[in-house]
Amino acid sequence: MSLCASCNSRFPRAAGLEMDGQIFCSERCVQSAYLLQLAWTISDDVVLEQLKVRRSQACPECGKSNGPIDLHRWHTISSFLLVTTWKTTPRISCRSCALQRQLFATGHCLVLGWWGFPWGIFGTPVQITRNVVSMVRSGNQQRCSREFEQSVRIDIAREMLAQQAQATQLQQQPKQMQPAQFVNETQQPPVSQAPQYDLPIFPPKLE
Ligand SMILES: [Zn+2]
Ligand SMILES: [Zn+2]
Repeated sequence: MSLCASCNSRFPRAAGLEMDGQIFCSERCVQSAYLLQLAWTISDDVVLEQLKVRRSQACPECGKSNGPIDLHRWHTISSFLLVTTWKTTPRISCRSCALQRQLFATGHCLVLGWWGFPWGIFGTPVQITRNVVSMVRSGNQQRCSREFEQSVRIDIAREMLAQQAQATQLQQQPKQMQPAQFVNETQQPPVSQAPQYDLPIFPPKLE
């Protein structure tokens, strides 16, 4: 059995696909690993510009524009005798929405966390500490979380691949299928109106 480098699931080694020395369970996982790799090659300037736009959007939770939005987390634990469940919830919101959730999650841990042995007793202080750390981190409005940056990078990478696929499709269209105005060899069909990005590497086959 092998472990997929993208989704962490186990699968028979013979069914695996290899890319850059890593093994993946499916074509889908190869594509998402490629997207992630591509996402982190996008220049910081392009990402910073997009981040500025995204972070100044209205909070998806409260709808207000009261400060930069980011990906925030809160942590809970619930115990009942021998059963203990832990949960971490990530959500994109403004800081005040996140703070409310994190305080509520801390209260949840204090009330419901302790009543299990042994994990409730040990886990409750862990989850409360994680909430406190998340609250302190949320206070840093200058720098967003790495996860938020990554989600923006992935969106840009997706857009780049879509543009490239569209350009390739236009190039591959047989001549007789082209509309009359493009019969002239010197005339090029209009490519996308969206901003163009430089592609650092050529991607594998798209779905
Ligand atoms: Zn996988
Ligand atoms: Zn909000």
